[in-house]
Amino acid sequence: MSTAMMLAIVILLPLLLFGWQFRSVRAGWWHRFPTQAEYLTRYPDIAASARAHCVHCGSAEILDTGVFGPTSTWRLHCCERCKNPLWRSTSP
Ligand SMILES: [Zn+2]
Repeated sequence: MSTAMMLAIVILLPLLLFGWQFRSVRAGWWHRFPTQAEYLTRYPDIAASARAHCVHCGSAEILDTGVFGPTSTWRLHCCERCKNPLWRSTSP
């Protein structure tokens, strides 16, 4: 094995492990949020209204964001006004 290859492994392996850890931490964090159905069950007042809105400030402007960047299939829906995360979903 060449020195360059050894060096690459020594540098890349911790980076990969760190990236993987970072992903699982984010995944655990994301799973703490309810799904939209759970969110509506938890707050019957919101389910009864015409549009799903923020439980914190009442805003109906919900921002759909990706957990691992804009194209991520793991979505987190946050309030546009107070920026509180509300519920999670997945996109196909
Ligand atoms: Zn809000």
